Amino acid sequence: MLTQARILNWLRATEPARLEVLWRLADAVRRAHVGDAVHLRGLIEISNVCVRLCGYCGLRAPNRAVERYRMSSDEILACARQARDFGYGTVVLQAGEDPALTCEFVAEVVRRIKRETGLAVTLSLGERPREELAAWREAGADRYLLRFETSNGPLFDAIHPPRGAREGEPRDASRNGAGLATRLDQLRALRELGYEVGSGVMIGIPGQTYADLARDIALFRELDLDMIGCGPFLPHPATPLGREALADEHASEPSKGRPAPDDQVPGSELMAYKVIALARLVCPRANIPSTTALATINPTRGRELGLSRGANIVMPNLTPTRYRTKYEIYPGKACITEDAAACNHCLSRRIESIDRVVGQGPGGSPNWRARMGGES
Ligand code: SAH
Repeated sequence: MLTQARILNWLRATEPARLEVLWRLADAVRRAHVGDAVHLRGLIEISNVCVRLCGYCGLRAPNRAVERYRMSSDEILACARQARDFGYGTVVLQAGEDPALTCEFVAEVVRRIKRETGLAVTLSLGERPREELAAWREAGADRYLLRFETSNGPLFDAIHPPRGAREGEPRDASRNGAGLATRLDQLRALRELGYEVGSGVMIGIPGQTYADLARDIALFRELDLDMIGCGPFLPHPATPLGREALADEHASEPSKGRPAPDDQVPGSELMAYKVIALARLVCPRANIPSTTALATINPTRGRELGLSRGANIVMPNLTPTRYRTKYEIYPGKACITEDAAACNHCLSRRIESIDRVVGQGPGGSPNWRARMGGES
């Protein structure tokens, strides 16, 4: 078994010949457990309204520069039909924590998508009460994505002020990791409700150490995740964490209370591949995307290299172009001006260029099937 110490060792590795061993191992494990099919998930960013103050995200409530939108259920359905016409097996509905996406609204959209397209439905709508998660599962939702972002409790709390907190308010040090505990409770609830559960982290969050990241990866295994999404942290200048990271780039010393430069994880492309490869080794049957954040730091080869080093999923964007530019969680997001047809064409071509095949059908996680008592 890959111990946390061994994981840490890989995260610190720099020698190309050694890393080649990791890439080969991850690729072999990927092929053995999830095969050569690359499943496409059509991403629909249904609302950029958000009540939260997450320190890294461009959609955080106080960012007045964002023009907010919310798609109607007819608009969402039109995107889902497009997904079906492109042959995708799944749509992912993602949004900020938007209270106007009520329990009933989302449940009805899920029912319509299931009825009218038969596609698998993944939700990624942030932290929501258990009753709502239950109602959506009942309505037919298959999967839920909620990253825990970091397993370092104080760091989690520092970058996720509780719901109802106000900008500029001093931080409540007595929370003591309560925010992370709440998030892990949500993941547990999703599992109990029978969802395929996805989580993951950002790589290179200011304050994230190598030891933190090794623990994150060990936690993927403990949580027995069905899906694991990880990408580099990309500083957004309209966020506190983004401003801090951008200032640090030009400073000779780290900010107060931050790890020594040797301990701080870089939000680099190489580190992202290491995390994808290690995630594949600790959770062989999970579905692992080659993320848009990775494609953003290496637009020419990022997606392909992610797929060659452990990943088996990509998420073409289906959000109508007029909304897409407004869903700016980080700046310079890949494919921001492309339309859905262009994304579809480009991604299929990239998959074929590395001798892989576009997956057919819903492409559920073999890990989930095994857990639910089916074949693996
Ligand atoms: N509101 C939902 C969806 C968030 S967007 C939720 O909180 O779950 C999905 C993911 O984008 C987040 O989980 C986060 O890991 C990532 N993300 C947000 N801001 C980012 C940034 N500045 N750089 C890199 N990834 C970011």
